[in-house]
Amino acid sequence: MSDGISAARYAERLLRAKAAVAEAEATAMLVGVGPELEWLTGYAAHGGERLNLLVIPAEGPLGYISPRLEAPAALAAPGFADGRLPLHVWDETDDPFLLMPPLVSPREPLRFLVSDGLRAAFVLALQTALPGSGWGLASDVLAPLRRVKDAEEIVLLRAAAQAADRAMERIISGPLVGRTEAEVARDVRDALVEEGHDTAEFAIVASGPNSASPHHEPSQRLIATGEPLLLDIGGRRAGYNSDITRTVWIAAEDGAGPEPGFREIYELTASGQAAARAAVRPGVTFEALDASAREVIAAGGYGDHFIHRLGHGLGLEVHEEPYLVAGNHEVAVAGNTFSCEPGIYLGGRYGVRIEDAMVCTAEGGESLNEAPRELRVVSGR
Ligand code: ZN
Ligand code: ZN
Repeated sequence: MSDGISAARYAERLLRAKAAVAEAEATAMLVGVGPELEWLTGYAAHGGERLNLLVIPAEGPLGYISPRLEAPAALAAPGFADGRLPLHVWDETDDPFLLMPPLVSPREPLRFLVSDGLRAAFVLALQTALPGSGWGLASDVLAPLRRVKDAEEIVLLRAAAQAADRAMERIISGPLVGRTEAEVARDVRDALVEEGHDTAEFAIVASGPNSASPHHEPSQRLIATGEPLLLDIGGRRAGYNSDITRTVWIAAEDGAGPEPGFREIYELTASGQAAARAAVRPGVTFEALDASAREVIAAGGYGDHFIHRLGHGLGLEVHEEPYLVAGNHEVAVAGNTFSCEPGIYLGGRYGVRIEDAMVCTAEGGESLNEAPRELRVVSGR
């Protein structure tokens, strides 16, 4: 397969997950609709009230519980190739939870690991169908596997990042001035898709004082000259996400560039971001990466204005493990992909954030994004 994850990789992931279930001394892993299911099978199943459930027992064959009307969609997914995942189909009037007990080993005591997003209603019904069982989270064993990306995944993440780079360049090129943030956010969504994403996932467009709010929702505010514009945008391509932030200054009517205060926090953010990117290598802790940017910003006097963690893992989800935050003593390994996104936010005035998607390689950190990071002054016309 030229664009996507190969069927062989899904077969390998299912085997690794099965081994991890045995290692955790659990009876089975029960995976509902969501990113864990996509990672294991390539199946982006319908969410909803009908039970879809991948059953990965420590012993015995794997199985997939599917509503009859969704069976063709399941069988078309690469993880189901070669009959690897036998379907246990239920009809509209069946109780799908009665399919469960025969699928799992009768070995006592029973303990099940459920995916993070499995509906509470499903979990409660499973607990009724499998009385006396213990329950835990599948993410405890899946997240350590998912966060080490293979070469195929890194190719896809890089392609998504480069599509986001092109979309960013188009938006920065304008027109911006005199238009609302919401209008520009619609442009962002169009540009993300036109540049190669399957879907646009988010578009933060924060102008002037709104740039001081890290998760600002694009508003009816008119973008003006002589102020900053923060753009944090991303989309999904072949399942994998992009996530990039750039902050630009829109020149004043007379062509004047940024005021000194803005330039100061921009340069400080850029220095902190560069320090963190340079610190990426196998063996470094995620809290040390956070600290490497934070120390630069604190030394410049703005530590209290860097009010969020440095970054988050990036893959099938926009936010996933690992989290780059104080207190996370886990170490980076080659194949980890995550954002590096320090910011300085001065309430009522303006803010700056610079964000790239990074991959940790055996040699060190590499940015998947290539959009320029220096302070850009644009006309916005
Ligand atoms: Zn972002
Ligand atoms: Zn991010």
